Amino acid sequence: MAIIAADREMQVYENMGARFDVAASKLGLDEGFQKVLRTPNKEITVYIPVTMDSGKLEVFVGYRVQHSIVRGPGKGGIRYSPGVTLDEVRALASWMTWKCAVVNIPFGGAKGGVICDPEKLSRRELEAITRRYTAELLDYLGPERDVPAPDLGTNEQVMAWVMDTYSMHVRHTSTAIVTGKPLDLGGSRGRREATGRGVLIVCDQTLRRLGRQREGQRVVIQGFGNVGSVTAQLMHESGYKIIGVSDIHGAIYNAKGIDVPRLLAHALETGSVAGFKGCDPADPREILFLDCDITVPAAIENVITSHNADRIKAGIIIEAANGPTTALADDILEEKKIYVVPDILANAGGVTVSYFEWVQDRHGYFWSEAMVNERLEQMMVECFNDVVAYADRHSVSPRIAAYMLAIDRVAFALKLRGLYA
Ligand code: NAD
Repeated sequence: MAIIAADREMQVYENMGARFDVAASKLGLDEGFQKVLRTPNKEITVYIPVTMDSGKLEVFVGYRVQHSIVRGPGKGGIRYSPGVTLDEVRALASWMTWKCAVVNIPFGGAKGGVICDPEKLSRRELEAITRRYTAELLDYLGPERDVPAPDLGTNEQVMAWVMDTYSMHVRHTSTAIVTGKPLDLGGSRGRREATGRGVLIVCDQTLRRLGRQREGQRVVIQGFGNVGSVTAQLMHESGYKIIGVSDIHGAIYNAKGIDVPRLLAHALETGSVAGFKGCDPADPREILFLDCDITVPAAIENVITSHNADRIKAGIIIEAANGPTTALADDILEEKKIYVVPDILANAGGVTVSYFEWVQDRHGYFWSEAMVNERLEQMMVECFNDVVAYADRHSVSPRIAAYMLAIDRVAFALKLRGLYA
């Protein structure tokens, strides 16, 4: 049972720490090692002056946290959102450490964020923020140091600006500085779809384990951005029935199943799932609690809490978003015997193909989409099986098993390196 005070439930970093403590003590990890692995390596705050389109000068606040570089360079997305906090970036950086270790790729964990609302910024303003943010972090980023990627509110174009700014400063083209780039700038085939594809793979594996068929499984998805929309598309193509979808603007519901290809076209045209014909409008705050078989939170943190976990009707939760469930909600879900595939496993498809992209950039040799997808599937199935085996062996939830597996791998690397002697 993870321990966290009720009034700290929404503090994401403390939620990470609560799970860490349970997993580390089950592993019997030395107290000093626990201290080292729980604490971030570096936290950088930058102040980003930008002339807005109005002519006014504005200062944005950005962060980069490097949680661990024990197993390799820092790896982690850059988030643009008005809600970014240092606590959130710290938690996300730690999750990246555990995620990379769960899928066993040679990266540590890092994360970045800028407090801004990308929906209210012009393209030029976004570019200016991105270039200045990258320039301020120049000493800390690099293919062997710390490699960013897209996250909430950032995309391929933002990654292209990061790559260009870094390359201008180091005076040569450096594609491996960032992943999730456009294909024509050294991006990888299959990267855009990778997180959603990984979600599909772990969902398929979960059903196999529970002895269920995927045909007709009713799914609801919160969030229809990169991760949510691709998950919806791939699940729909694989025979799942998507009955509810939400985004920040609204939600839709159709018990008979949503026509996902048409919904994708609608969302592209209007910028939201709201108003899609052939579906009933729904309350976006209620999307996760609809009657269904599988719930996929694919938007933000802290949406399943001790105040609402008992209202979940699905038997399976696949955490496509980072940190959608609080530590206090874990026990309620466990009591209800809901099978939760934790974020650090469920959404690891993205960083796995980011790793493929980094490898391809460094080789200057690019793989076919079929090869990317095949290798992704192989690695995701392997790590799903690793986590499930750990959970069975230690009689713990898949979440605690994933943390144990990850912490064990990072601690082992730390011992091998003989750090802090
Ligand atoms: P995105 O910006 O492309 O999309 C986010 C979606 O969530 C949008 O549809 C937005 O409208 C919706 N949303 C935002 N706030 C919401 C709210 N309060 N309620 C309901 N919906 C809301 O972001 P993304 O890249 O799809 O990332 C989604 C989640 O997945 C994040 O937690 C991110 O950290 C995680 N993740 C992303 C990747 C990746 O490769 N992009 C990889 C691993 C994990």
